[in-house]
Amino acid sequence: MGLLPFDFLTTRAPSLQDRTALLPETLAVVESGNVKKWACLRCPGGCGEVITLSLNPNQRPRWGISEDFWSRPTVHPSVHQKNECGCHFWIKKGQVNWCRGGRPKRPAKDPVRDKRTPT
Ligand SMILES: [Zn+2]
Repeated sequence: MGLLPFDFLTTRAPSLQDRTALLPETLAVVESGNVKKWACLRCPGGCGEVITLSLNPNQRPRWGISEDFWSRPTVHPSVHQKNECGCHFWIKKGQVNWCRGGRPKRPAKDPVRDKRTPT
């Protein structure tokens, strides 16, 4: 890819189930027919959690996604993780732009410990 900067490149995934196999630096768009349904990516903040964004225009919240010539995604609005990680970032032209205070201070933690307890 030479000097082309990116954190994520867009790929297509046939179903949402495949998202557990999601590779880093991959933003997978799940399509049904010609309709974009979901966008999945691994949290760039280090927690590694798979973030699933709804692209369905009939649902809230929903995100919009576009790709440039090099398959670099631009996602709007911003992505804000509600877990402990608390990442808050934009993806523009495939690159993560951290919001102020939205970048986790600590690196990845033990994913087993991160399991949510039922409330
Ligand atoms: Zn995270």
